[in-house]
Amino acid sequence: MDSSCKEENGNPVNCLFVHGPIIVGAGPSGLAVAACLKEKGVPSLILERSECIASLWQQRTYDRLKLHLPKQFCQLPFLSFPENFPKYPTKHQFISYMESYARHFSIEPIFKKVVETAELDHVRQFWRVRTQDFEYCSRWLIVATGENAESFIPEIQGIERFQGPVIHTSVYKSGSEFKYQRVLVVGCGNSGMEVSLDLCRHNAIPHMVVRNSVHILPREMFGFSTFSIAMELLKWLPLRLVDKFLLLVANFTLGNTGQIRSPEAENRPNRAQKCHRKDSRARCWSFITNQIR
Ligand SMILES: Cc1cc2nc3c(=O)[nH]c(=O)nc-3n(C[C@H](O)[C@H](O)[C@H](O)COP(=O)(O)OP(=O)(O)OC[C@H]3O[C@@H](n4cnc5c(N)ncnc54)[C@H](O)[C@@H]3O)c2cc1C
Repeated sequence: MDSSCKEENGNPVNCLFVHGPIIVGAGPSGLAVAACLKEKGVPSLILERSECIASLWQQRTYDRLKLHLPKQFCQLPFLSFPENFPKYPTKHQFISYMESYARHFSIEPIFKKVVETAELDHVRQFWRVRTQDFEYCSRWLIVATGENAESFIPEIQGIERFQGPVIHTSVYKSGSEFKYQRVLVVGCGNSGMEVSLDLCRHNAIPHMVVRNSVHILPREMFGFSTFSIAMELLKWLPLRLVDKFLLLVANFTLGNTGQIRSPEAENRPNRAQKCHRKDSRARCWSFITNQIR
């Protein structure tokens, strides 16, 4: 890295020229990219806004979280999960794997650097990447800021009248805070499902609302992960047929989950369902409210 100083609007700006790509984000993707570049002998620089690697996993996940997919589908290039890790490692195991990955490839992100802007300088043909106190320049910019890094709660009409807490799953830690309380879980993705289970385990009473009908698949079928079965079948069959097959098996093992709904919900579409429809990112979030009246 070469450093220099220039003036902008009368204020001095520290500039660093980076030999190799700038990577924004030290999550699994940013680390994997840095490791792959290193394997090719290419240096890089990671700028990370938090003070640790894999900040999503370290700071914004619930206690009981385990990988949702078998470990072989989640490992990063050139370094497998340790043999003694279970098929679905816990979040702490995943974090320790990330830390040993960074150590193994001597990846040292610069922490507490929020990238505020990135502009391509068309004249000099390099990226100008600004943080609060520095401008980093490089010919290459890799954005690895993640699809779940920002929590999102959609606008819900009338929510201000609800007197209980409304929280996003990224701040949910454990159902122990909700013992004996009725909790509404909005969204039925992996997080919504697992949070509901966690609430049950802690003697809370969760209810779930989902805007559309969903297909519920077991995590494993015939002793194999459903995901790996789907991946194998997709090599030979079109998605439509794979879907049909998985649903058939799910129906056989779990029964008709379409029947599990309250008669009230059948007749009166829930308000929450209505207002989510506008939100195309809803797949990525689940949030919970408690003490539903
Ligand atoms: C509850 C949960 C369970 C999951 N389970 C699995 C699973 O089992 N298997 C699986 O493969 N995936 C799973 N995922 C998907 C998850 O998105 C990935 O595991 C993984 O964390 C994505 O890595 P990433 O590096 O792309 O993004 P992230 O992990 O989100 O990392 C992005 C990084 O960029 C940083 N950043 C963002 N903006 C800036 C900025 N402006 N300047 C500087 N830094 C910035 C963030 O601080 C963060 O550290 C799960 C996700 C969640 C939320």
